[in-house]
Amino acid sequence: MKTVLFSDFDGTITEQETFSLLMKEFAPEASRRIVPRLLSGETTLREGVPAILETIPSERFPEMVARMRTMDLRPGFPEFLDFLEQHAIPLVVLSGSLVELVMARLAPYRTRISRVVAAHAETDRPLLRIRSETAGGDELVHKAAVMREYGEALKIAIGDSVTDLTMAREADLVFARSLLARRLSNENRPHVSFETFFDISNYLELFLRNKAVHG
Ligand SMILES: [Mg+2]
Repeated sequence: MKTVLFSDFDGTITEQETFSLLMKEFAPEASRRIVPRLLSGETTLREGVPAILETIPSERFPEMVARMRTMDLRPGFPEFLDFLEQHAIPLVVLSGSLVELVMARLAPYRTRISRVVAAHAETDRPLLRIRSETAGGDELVHKAAVMREYGEALKIAIGDSVTDLTMAREADLVFARSLLARRLSNENRPHVSFETFFDISNYLELFLRNKAVHG
């Protein structure tokens, strides 16, 4: 059976929750107003994230992209891409952020990533406009629905937040840190904790070897 790896971006591939940082920096007023409503569940991600981003002038988008390029990636990411290549495992990045921001940071690795799924920013009007081809339910990017497109495969998920819960539920093996790890622990759902991509490579190395031996 084919193996496919699905990874969140902000706070997972990046060290920090970069998307929230950018929203606070470029849309401070809307973030103050809407983020608490997102956290309390009064507003969905599908409504709340565009409501914040669409207050940002389009002419500031290049600054956001430039800021994104300065963000640190989690240690071991390039080596992890080597590992996936050796094992012929495609990497699909599933992000509730914007393709333009994700790709700004991942541009050096573009050819090594199978697919990036996120929302899009349109900059042809005075204020940003957000578009998503994969919105579903309450989510701006319905991560689990994208995973289902891959049909019969061994699905591995990596994430850090409650926005990755649907992805975790869809996966056969989950690597989790931060809030996602705590939520999965509370629900008694099996997962592997990680802090760096070296942790994940090390675990997967053994996992795949065992699978090759025992099926
Ligand atoms: Mg995240």
